[in-house]
Amino acid sequence: MAGIYFHIPFCKRFCGYCDFNRSLRLQYAPRVLERMHAELETEQSFLHDSKIRTVYFGGGTPSLLAPQTLANLFEHTARLFDCTRTEEITVELNPDDITTEYVAELRRTPINRLSVGIQSFDDAELRVMGRRHTAAQAEQAVRLLQTAGYDNISIDLIFGVHGFGDDVLQRSLDKALSLGVQHISAYHLTIEPETRFGRMLARGELQQVDEECSEREFAAVHAALTAAGFEHYEVSNYALSGFRSRHNSSYWTGDEYLGIGAGAHSFNGSMRRWCEQSAEEYAEGVVYGQETLSERDRLNEYLMTSLRRIEGISTAYIAERWGSDEAERIGRTAEAFIKAGTMVRLGVGADERLAVPPEHFLISDAIISALFEV
Ligand code: SF4
Repeated sequence: MAGIYFHIPFCKRFCGYCDFNRSLRLQYAPRVLERMHAELETEQSFLHDSKIRTVYFGGGTPSLLAPQTLANLFEHTARLFDCTRTEEITVELNPDDITTEYVAELRRTPINRLSVGIQSFDDAELRVMGRRHTAAQAEQAVRLLQTAGYDNISIDLIFGVHGFGDDVLQRSLDKALSLGVQHISAYHLTIEPETRFGRMLARGELQQVDEECSEREFAAVHAALTAAGFEHYEVSNYALSGFRSRHNSSYWTGDEYLGIGAGAHSFNGSMRRWCEQSAEEYAEGVVYGQETLSERDRLNEYLMTSLRRIEGISTAYIAERWGSDEAERIGRTAEAFIKAGTMVRLGVGADERLAVPPEHFLISDAIISALFEV
């Protein structure tokens, strides 16, 4: 089964760390939406699999649009694809868009999973990040959604922000856990050059946290959330049992997905395609970039996505798919990490898997690079 991702590229203001495809020109929304409906029609044959398991509205800020506007995109999807077994329809929400009226309208749509962009429960940290909401608004937003009956709620947190100590992070984690949500995504702040934070860093007005702080905060997040019963199932993602993000999991397991909108990416098993246009350009007509993946690309992608998850890689699958020489090469390289304790061997024989234990996920990128076929 496949997934469909809709990118809603509009924001009311830009956060300091954000390098997503986004635009402040909300006046373009009607034309962009018209184009997204048209793109859905013209690109339906991109997927080989027409059964849609998950739908995801990301951004940008999808909650700047009325819930019915998002539901219209899903209804159109259901006319073009088989959505009779769609399990999960997620929308990303910004806390200050979540009002009683908004939630009442949201309840009338088939959207059944909510991802709330909170980032921190510390007002000073939220101001530094350039977020629009306060900690109190974030808490109130989650409570409103829960009161309305939603029981599949994810929140995003960011850690590794210079100048905010371990106690600030701990308070955010405590507050997040006290809310009784089912899923938490916790990202280490990365500073990209083309962002406000990137420019501040270049001017010396902002610092990055050092490696020791990164490791300490990553460990603090892992300890707090796993102690509360969350499974650390991917580098940045934690879920209570049965509440992993099915949409995001499908990216990591190589399923097909169709991305619609400026900033969306698609994959159909052999080809990757993306649209990097601004919302304003997209409104005039879609232009894609694309690449056909070689066998080496596909092996490296398998390593990259699998070693960021607790399941890790299957050596039997690598041998069957890319040959026993590759499986042996990877096994030999992994041996040093296994000895050092930063990788583990799970299962035996045909069930053998090599994985990075969650407490070492922070260094998974270095391990993945060492295992890559170059
Ligand atoms: S983090 Fe979200 S709300 Fe902030 S600028 Fe990026 S897309 Fe917009």
